[in-house]
Amino acid sequence: MDCLFCRIVAGEIPSKQVYADDSAIAFLDINPWHVGHTLVIPRRHVDDLLSDPEALTEITPAINATARLLVDRLAADGLNTMSSAGVAAGQEVFHFHVHLVPRFAHRPGLKELFRHEPEVDLDRVYRQILSRS
Ligand code: AMP
Ligand code: ZN
Repeated sequence: MDCLFCRIVAGEIPSKQVYADDSAIAFLDINPWHVGHTLVIPRRHVDDLLSDPEALTEITPAINATARLLVDRLAADGLNTMSSAGVAAGQEVFHFHVHLVPRFAHRPGLKELFRHEPEVDLDRVYRQILSRS
């Protein structure tokens, strides 16, 4: 198995998992654009949305639950969702994934979406998302 995200699903590579159900898992992006940037992926291998359109339906409950969790726990002001299909679209990991990117009022707008937040403490963000309050 040489797919990075299949190995994350199998637990062979560690991830900061924030949500899981029978069809999907969600974990923090290792190189976040904004605090709480998370990837939602199907458990089964799917290259991208174009190669298997049903995959989006399968992970929709996970997308909705994770979006709610992120916005509530991180007190986000908004959220972007996006998925890239193919090299031309900028896809780098070829296991279908949807980016969930919490957005905050101090850095508004689409032009700010891809500018990495400097110095995100992934451990602290992970604790904040998983904390019960
Ligand atoms: P894409 O360009 O849409 O294929 O996005 C791939 C994403 O996977 C990027 O945002 C990477 O930062 C993220 N990524 C790569 N390796 C890991 C990993 N081991 N754990 C979490 N996220 C990862
Ligand atoms: Zn895979």
